[in-house]
Amino acid sequence: MLLQGIAAASGYAIGQAFVLQEQEASVERADIAPGEADAEVERLQNAVAQSKEELEKIKASTAARLGEHEAEIFATHQLLLEDEEFIGQAIAQIRAMNVNAEYALHEVTEQLVAIFAGMDDEYLRERAADFRDVSKRVQRHLSGAKAASLTDFAEAVVLFANDLTPSDTAQLDRSKVAGFVTQIGGRTSHSAIMARSMEIPAVVGLTDAMHSVKTGQMVIVDGSSGIVLIDPDAETLAAYREKKEKFELRREEMKQYKDRPSVTADGHQVELVANIGNPQDALGARNHGAEGVGLFRTEFLYMGRDNFPSEEEQYHAYTAVCQTMGAEKPIVIRTLDIGGDKELSYLELPKEMNPFLGYRAIRLCLDRKDLFKTQLRAILRASAHGNIKLMYPMIATITELRAANELLAEARQELDAEGVAYNREMEVGIMIEVPAAAIAADQLAEEVDFFSIGTNDLVQYTMAADRMNQQVSHLSQPFHPSVLRLIKMVIDAAHSRGKWAGMCGEMAGNLKAIPLLLGLGLDEFSMSASSVLPARVLLSRLDREAMKPLAEEALRLKTAEEIQYLVVERIPAIQELTI
Ligand code: PEP
Ligand code: MG
Repeated sequence: MLLQGIAAASGYAIGQAFVLQEQEASVERADIAPGEADAEVERLQNAVAQSKEELEKIKASTAARLGEHEAEIFATHQLLLEDEEFIGQAIAQIRAMNVNAEYALHEVTEQLVAIFAGMDDEYLRERAADFRDVSKRVQRHLSGAKAASLTDFAEAVVLFANDLTPSDTAQLDRSKVAGFVTQIGGRTSHSAIMARSMEIPAVVGLTDAMHSVKTGQMVIVDGSSGIVLIDPDAETLAAYREKKEKFELRREEMKQYKDRPSVTADGHQVELVANIGNPQDALGARNHGAEGVGLFRTEFLYMGRDNFPSEEEQYHAYTAVCQTMGAEKPIVIRTLDIGGDKELSYLELPKEMNPFLGYRAIRLCLDRKDLFKTQLRAILRASAHGNIKLMYPMIATITELRAANELLAEARQELDAEGVAYNREMEVGIMIEVPAAAIAADQLAEEVDFFSIGTNDLVQYTMAADRMNQQVSHLSQPFHPSVLRLIKMVIDAAHSRGKWAGMCGEMAGNLKAIPLLLGLGLDEFSMSASSVLPARVLLSRLDREAMKPLAEEALRLKTAEEIQYLVVERIPAIQELTI
């Protein structure tokens, strides 16, 4: 039987299933006499204190086993235990309703979980799990029960559970748990994040998983694609054992590349950096060996809330990225790119016939100068703390670039007048996402410090194929000769003016594209963090000089298929690295 869930932590686990039946303690409402409320509140406070102590121990052992960052979640849980809206509310309910502590806590938890679970932002939505986790711990102390052990298995099992709390996950022992499958959760739930750092293959969000398997049955978990196979035949088992072995060998090989420079076999160095959406992502980027950030999609700071982030908030977010990555590491911050498929409920944008061709990104920012200026000031201020570079999205004309730079100059003057520090040498670049900008790149290059090619949009505009429309997705062809020609024009234009050219669209992390981009002279490749190490290993096996004629040959071909075929045929390492 094949089940499809959400790929949460890559790798393969093969072993016997262990279905974790939770004995969910049912919470009964018990009315208490008004005179007993104080004693009930004290009982809750004692359970909270015991929970805090327990969390302190888990935090320390997690920090020692997995690192400080992984342990942070438990500090957050400790803070939740001090939250007035949580424990404070439960205490208020005991007194107001004259009910037992278990019931009051249960009610408040359910209310908070409902609020968080209904949020738009995936990250915030999954914080509902933190409330459940903390509440469960306090309930356990209220009942005096012992914590269930997830480490007592005779041999490595594949765990099936409705959900694993972050603290459950942190306690898993890799020699006893080969992998896990949960019925709820998403890629950004803490147990998924932790599974990735513990390198335990995991699939989450697989509704009904527990009913589809019995303890003792043989299972395969493919954490890279989210597939779970129950009772596989001998042939499938053998095939997955081989995949597992290759995957693990490759993972070990990649680790050796984490702190190495990104250099080709013939000694040509490029920069491999990561795309991030929030300051927390920076840690994952660093752990995956990224040499900096090539695209910080700042619009995510504006989402999942109901007002604009203030200058101060943004300043802290940008500074946090510099702190995580290191002050000398390049951090390219892209200014707000809202519109298209990205909406802000509180911005009330007009409905448009063609949102991707409409009022978005720099077009909107040049119109909403108040918003834009706030962000420019925040970025400038943060530039005093790291190697920040500023980048405007969706530039189509040089007039837009100049208008944006004028506002930047105003922001600088304001900061000068206020005596606030910023980096006067901060580089300012643009994304090349609109064909008009690619074609006029030679002119734009005179007025910028760098280009970063946004192929996600450049492809959709070049091919006139909406990137959100499944029916035309076959036309989303980054390898189309026209796209490759535009890329070449942009890189050449930058170099002829002594500027550097990067790429932050998905194409930059595509192993088939890397040899061509290297041959065309791309200086910086920005990609999702998990693509960095495979890209670095591939680069180490490529000869830069040999990639130049390969790129020329590709540019003479007429279809995207022929071009990809050429690259894969000439460079066997691509297939080896694509497991
Ligand atoms: C792009 O268009 O390639 C890009 C990186 O920007 P986004 O995907 O955020 O539109
Ligand atoms: Mg874009």
